[in-house]
Amino acid sequence: MFFDRCCPGCGGRARHVCRACLAALTPGGELCLDQLTHTFALYCYDDRSRQIILAAKNGGRRDVLRVLGAQLGRLPLVDSADIITWVPASVAGRRRRGYDQGRILARALARQLNVPVRPLLRRAAGQSQAGKNRLQRIQGPVFRAATAAPKTVLLVDDVVATGASLSAAAVALRGAGADFVIGVAAAASVRPADLATNLYSDDTQRLRR
Ligand SMILES: [Zn+2]
Repeated sequence: MFFDRCCPGCGGRARHVCRACLAALTPGGELCLDQLTHTFALYCYDDRSRQIILAAKNGGRRDVLRVLGAQLGRLPLVDSADIITWVPASVAGRRRRGYDQGRILARALARQLNVPVRPLLRRAAGQSQAGKNRLQRIQGPVFRAATAAPKTVLLVDDVVATGASLSAAAVALRGAGADFVIGVAAAASVRPADLATNLYSDDTQRLRR
């Protein structure tokens, strides 16, 4: 079969990310973040996943974002949400890229789960996380809810660094009426050993049931 695109992982011809590169990524797991009922990252953010995620996030590879978004459907508890939303990118980031990566991830996941997807959050102006130091990142951006939130919200993000963005977004969703906020991200910059539970551990299997 001929593909006119290349896999951002290995450079080989592929429709999006090749099977081998997806299979080689380090599985993520559960993170413990303030304000979130549960948070799961699909992969650990390491050299392998970074190449793929940066191509998706900053390299215009919306096709790769859609693959990653559909893969989020493998995470525990994702089917328990009333609605799916995402952590909105900054206006500057969205302009630079031409798209909001979280929105593409969320829409692909929504299609996979057949759950409605809505833009529930707005980011306060001038709140890009890129180029900030660690302290500024920990303080995180400020979000406000654009509308009332249902009881259980699935909140999508691309990469979790400190968790500040997800926590700040969850505060806004709770303020708008959500009782349960489940965070999911394509990757988290933690070592597998630092995850609360690994994606394929017995604990997570128990959560799935
Ligand atoms: Zn590949």
